[in-house]
Amino acid sequence: MVKHLATLGVASFLASFPAAMLAQDAAPFPPPRTRPPIISPGKTSADPPSDAIVLFDGKSLSHWRGTDGTPAKWQVRDGYAEVAAATGDIRTTEVFGDCQLHIEWATPAVPKGEGQERGNSGVFLMERYEIQVLDSYNNETYYHGQAGAVYKQYAPLGNASRKPGEWQSYDIIFKAPRFDEQGKVTERARVTVLHNGVLIQNNVEIYGITYNDRPALYIAHPPQEPLRLQDHGNPVRYRNIWIRRL
Ligand code: MG
Repeated sequence: MVKHLATLGVASFLASFPAAMLAQDAAPFPPPRTRPPIISPGKTSADPPSDAIVLFDGKSLSHWRGTDGTPAKWQVRDGYAEVAAATGDIRTTEVFGDCQLHIEWATPAVPKGEGQERGNSGVFLMERYEIQVLDSYNNETYYHGQAGAVYKQYAPLGNASRKPGEWQSYDIIFKAPRFDEQGKVTERARVTVLHNGVLIQNNVEIYGITYNDRPALYIAHPPQEPLRLQDHGNPVRYRNIWIRRL
């Protein structure tokens, strides 16, 4: 083919195809009828826009509960919430499906442990699909287990980690999975993630629940579920958490 192109030139190569093979479908389509709503952006792209639900403003975990329904026991101080080891995961009182999520986190300034034991936490979309939180600054682990991985499914496209103790951000665009009436998945979940502003997951198709000890699979669930943050035993901090329904 390369020789063929070089001999004929690109123009004559394209001319050798019937026009119908090259043209895209030119059927007319209707213009959108709905006016896009006005959304006042935040002061910076890290600040919540006018239609966001602020899930944590640095003062109180009132939007969160322990997984047993009791008040969240993580420590709130100086504008952040810190995982209190062995108190368990926390999850939102509200439920979400398709969403845009902004969340900031910091792993301990003095690194402790290696691999998965260093600054491990996680953002579980719909309580099931984990975007890994980990200190991945000079810390080797399996690639689909480092910061920004869709846990045990997709490595991030790059390692955009800041140093331990520094604040980092995830901006996550999530499309929830769809199930039919028999509970069979008809559309897998999709996720896009920016880590500190760097695209690290580009609309990947999630294979199912992000287990650590068995293959991913889908189990039908409601169209909206809480957001959950992981207590992996490490004092990871969170701040400035907001979400927009899509
Ligand atoms: Mg984790």
